[in-house]
Amino acid sequence: MRERPARPERATRAWRNMITPGISDTRLVGREGKAENTVVDVGGVLVGGQEIVVTAGPCSVESEEQLLATAFAVKQAGARILRGGAFKPRTSPYSFHGLHEEGLKLLAQARRATGLPVVTEAMDTRYLDAVCAHADMIQIGSRNMQNYTLLEEVGKLRVPVLLKRGFSATIEEFLLAAEYIASGGNGQIILCERGIRTFETSTRNTLDLSAVPLLKRWTHLPVIVDPSHGTGLWWLVPHMARAAVAAGADGLLVEVHVNPQEALSDGEQSLRPETFERMMNDIRPVAHAIGRRWPLGTRIASKDDLPLHPQPQASNRATPDLFRPAK
Ligand code: PEP
Ligand code: MN
Repeated sequence: MRERPARPERATRAWRNMITPGISDTRLVGREGKAENTVVDVGGVLVGGQEIVVTAGPCSVESEEQLLATAFAVKQAGARILRGGAFKPRTSPYSFHGLHEEGLKLLAQARRATGLPVVTEAMDTRYLDAVCAHADMIQIGSRNMQNYTLLEEVGKLRVPVLLKRGFSATIEEFLLAAEYIASGGNGQIILCERGIRTFETSTRNTLDLSAVPLLKRWTHLPVIVDPSHGTGLWWLVPHMARAAVAAGADGLLVEVHVNPQEALSDGEQSLRPETFERMMNDIRPVAHAIGRRWPLGTRIASKDDLPLHPQPQASNRATPDLFRPAK
């Protein structure tokens, strides 16, 4: 077996290749260029430090009532950043595409009301000015991860960027997309693993949690995980959120809706506020076990809150011998 070379004073190509095999052009976002972690300041909330930062909110901004109710609920449970789409990339041209400018104004209103910084997607260079006028961070969605014109424009800004992994993108392509933004002069980038498309159809995407430690090794940028798009199923979200924290994620991006059944987009993967709060409380010991800080919600969970992992109900069906404990 080849010995890993000792780290030289100045990283040589041989040493670099051991840590970012095959990736040659990540000179700004790679660890070889900067060893210490980057901390991104999103409207006063620091992502990439000791605290794990949870961003939560609805998939789409639908109305003032829906957004404000969700925003207060997620804040109460410990979310530090509010999410909500005003411009929605949808697979069908006939689906709801967001409230556009009106949605941005509602996000700004929710920020004023709750004090939470907001993140929202810019799907096109035409909307960048409007998004920057109202949001604290610009989201570049999965479908746009390789929209190089958009990446270049965002690179010219001095606004934090949440870059989501393309659903068919390799880690190398993901890092090189971030390099596009950084090479324009904007280094305030947070990477988001949100699941990739595989042969599996039971979940909406396959959440690639190995990407978390891998990215953390190869880049100094903060890495967060979106278990909502990563699974597509609300009841899987708390499980994968907890696993993401255990894997070393610097944050989570979670869809929450006050009434998921009526949601205009992604209702089946959105948590109700009560489930979100239970999830937040359930993850706390995991975060503490790995030496990370976890936000305290403002409401103390009641004893009566349901556990996330209920014991299966006793069944009166006969247990086949195969599963019967040996006497
Ligand atoms: C979203 O965050 O609502 C979204 C559309 O995400 P993605 O780009 O990962 O599909
Ligand atoms: Mn969504």
